Amino acid sequence: MTVDSVPLNTGAKLPLFGLGTWQVKDETELTVALRTALDGGYRLIDTAHLYQNEHIIGEVLHEYISSGKIKREDLFITSKLPFVAHAPEDVANCVESQLKALKLDYIDLYLIHCPCPFKHQEGNLLPLLEDGKLVFDEKTSHMDTWKELEKLYHAKKLRALGVSNFSAKQLEELYNQAEVKPSNIQVECHIYWPQEHLRSVCKKLGVTFTAYAPLGSPGRKAARPDGVWPEGDPLLEPVVQQLAAKYHKTAAQILIRHLTQHGISAIPKSISPDRIIENISTFDFKLSDEDMHALDTVPTRIRLFIFDFAVGHPLFPHDDVDETTAPRSGFKLH
Ligand code: NAP
Repeated sequence: MTVDSVPLNTGAKLPLFGLGTWQVKDETELTVALRTALDGGYRLIDTAHLYQNEHIIGEVLHEYISSGKIKREDLFITSKLPFVAHAPEDVANCVESQLKALKLDYIDLYLIHCPCPFKHQEGNLLPLLEDGKLVFDEKTSHMDTWKELEKLYHAKKLRALGVSNFSAKQLEELYNQAEVKPSNIQVECHIYWPQEHLRSVCKKLGVTFTAYAPLGSPGRKAARPDGVWPEGDPLLEPVVQQLAAKYHKTAAQILIRHLTQHGISAIPKSISPDRIIENISTFDFKLSDEDMHALDTVPTRIRLFIFDFAVGHPLFPHDDVDETTAPRSGFKLH
């Protein structure tokens, strides 16, 4: 299966589809998933320092590159700066450690994972906790961090820069000040949280858009067993089920196709070999304009991820609300 792509403002191409790897830390599971994905045509792999799996990904990438099965230039590796390493003195060291783990000379797209910086423990990149709470780093601005990333971009270690979980306002402010313009933003995006406002800002700026949780992240609750995640399952949405029957595709394939047909890069995570192949098998059909509209206008509006750990942070993405849609249910940001 050949995956479509969109141009980045660097001239490189962003595949419109890739493999998410959040919550996959088991070496055997991730190795099997990556081999299945790469053999099945995936070229974009999405990871982060926070996922604690870059060393496993590095082993598999090395296996494929060193054996000549895949050329480095045909891969597209995305990784992210943890929220505890925004301070200018930490950025380069953190990126170096990630390159080493990934066994790569460069990362194709590198994102600031979260707009809210936090302090880390002396001597390692574990979050500093006081009274069981994360400690805000109130000193470091987005531009302080970005300037360090720009140096690594000029050194060709990071081939494109971007952000994740930033509000439209934060993205635009950064864009206006940056010498190396952001190439991509990665945020929650699916039929229940379509991010229309942010998408229109990205279109205006020429910033590409990546959807995390493209299937509604049905496994997200494992990360928060305290039951704070809002309910909602786009895979079970009646219109998605109807379109799956109409196109002889699965619900997951309809959700992925809906995003990629909008020019949004989708990065569903799976450790199941069958689903990994199912998910990439979405570039061989097209949804009609009418069916795209039906998916665009599903009345439910729910943000499925919450960032309660960052509430009260001075850089909390307060306007990160899709103003064109109904208010979310389940929680308050402010
Ligand atoms: P997702 O991709 O929407 O959903 C993944 C879940 O769906 C897993 O539980 C997976 O289970 C299941 N699944 C996969 N394919 C399926 C299919 N065909 N049918 C039914 N279920 C299927 O959610 P996500 O993992 O939260 O988001 C995707 C990626 O985005 C992450 O892995 C990560 O790389 C990135 N992400 C980034 C951020 C950020 O802050 N930047 C936040 C969240 C996620 P199995 O594995 O058992 O198949």
